[in-house]
Amino acid sequence: MKPKQIKVQNSSILFIRWEDGNESNIPLAKLRDSCPCAICLTEKLKESESYIPFYSDTQTKIEDLTIVGNYALQIKWVDGHNTGIYEYAYLKKIEKMQRPN
Ligand SMILES: [Zn+2]
Repeated sequence: MKPKQIKVQNSSILFIRWEDGNESNIPLAKLRDSCPCAICLTEKLKESESYIPFYSDTQTKIEDLTIVGNYALQIKWVDGHNTGIYEYAYLKKIEKMQRPN
């Protein structure tokens, strides 16, 4: 499944229209929280159960989006973080994901 259209709405939602006509609306804070890169995953393992995610403005604003091959989206955030490569299948999952604790 590939996106037909990708855009950021109201500086807070990543909107994706998929080739089958379905749409995803993913809050940017959730997208950042779900960053699949090794740095973020390692940080997450260190979190305690009482951890409350907090993101500053620059961490939840997208500076640039790059299509990687034909399977993923690389997101560069305004704070410079750009190691997260979001596979399309993963993006579809994030929308429905809850934090695992
Ligand atoms: Zn990351």
